Amino acid sequence: MSSNPIKLGIVGVGKIVRDQHLPALAKDQDYRLVAAASRHGKVEDIPNFPTIEAMLDAVPELEAVSLCMPPQFRYDAARTALVAKKHVFLEKPPGATVSEVEDLKALAAANGVCLFASWHSRYAPAVEAARAFLRSTKIRSAAIIWKEDVRRWHPNQEWIWAPGGFGVFDPGINALSIATHILPPMFISSAELDFPENRASPVAAHVTFRTSDGLPVTMELDWLQTGPQSWDILAETDRGKMVLSGGGSKLAVDGRVVHEEPEAEYPMLYKRFAEIVRAGTSDVDLAPLQHVADAFMLGKRNVVQAFFD
Ligand code: NAP
Repeated sequence: MSSNPIKLGIVGVGKIVRDQHLPALAKDQDYRLVAAASRHGKVEDIPNFPTIEAMLDAVPELEAVSLCMPPQFRYDAARTALVAKKHVFLEKPPGATVSEVEDLKALAAANGVCLFASWHSRYAPAVEAARAFLRSTKIRSAAIIWKEDVRRWHPNQEWIWAPGGFGVFDPGINALSIATHILPPMFISSAELDFPENRASPVAAHVTFRTSDGLPVTMELDWLQTGPQSWDILAETDRGKMVLSGGGSKLAVDGRVVHEEPEAEYPMLYKRFAEIVRAGTSDVDLAPLQHVADAFMLGKRNVVQAFFD
């Protein structure tokens, strides 16, 4: 244990807390998990509270909180924590709207605490190598292909289909968090979003971006892909064809693997959060969220077959 671990509370105990946050924190000497707040979920061996307010009242020594509930329900909890002068780690996507996260950023600064808008896919092992490769090339075009099976990864999660749940952009924003880190700045020029007739969020999206230099970038998102899953970013360059696959875990150029290692995204996220807390800064990049907002703003809406779990 570090001599001065950050005393952390975790809020919204569900799938991602159990799958990733708790295992990462169990091995991280920079933190001591001291409390949890959730309406139903519980974390063993620490005090649990039904709300963040009850947790903050009962455990004043808390220094930071990780907010892991779905994005539509995160702003009020974040505001409560920041006003109480706690550092805040936001799961991705950081909020349901761009402006609410801007507000949180200002609130963190006004209260002298740190805000971290985490993007776990950005910490996939081959992402930095892809960024370095692309910076050494002339890119001709790029394509983002993110196709997965919603029934496998999000069984019975109703919030994800509700307004603010983002639909297929919930995984798609992971792709955008990588793309905005490795590709030149870009903006959406056209989009089509496929909404099942019984759902408020899209099940597929077809998006075209361009950079100010006219570089074309396409994005295909599909939530009905069974069998092999595709989480790939491709780029045609003057040094060959780059394929960043496996959600950022493997990099190949012209078919030759140049970087591959096991993922450690959440340990890396917590390392980064500790860094910004100790440095007294915030890390809030809204580019991925802005692109999702733009796709909803500019996108043509297609109505497609109803979706049932
Ligand atoms: P989840 O299990 O459905 O939700 C997490 C917890 O949030 C729930 O167990 C629930 O706990 C609480 N919650 C749900 N609705 C709420 C509401 N209306 N008000 C307050 N709390 C509510 O979702 P998840 O899969 O963990 O995803 C949570 C976040 O993590 C999302 O932003 C998602 O994009 C991100 N994420 C998920 C994954 C993944 O594989 N699932 C991967 C990376 C990131 P209580 O009922 O106990 O309050």
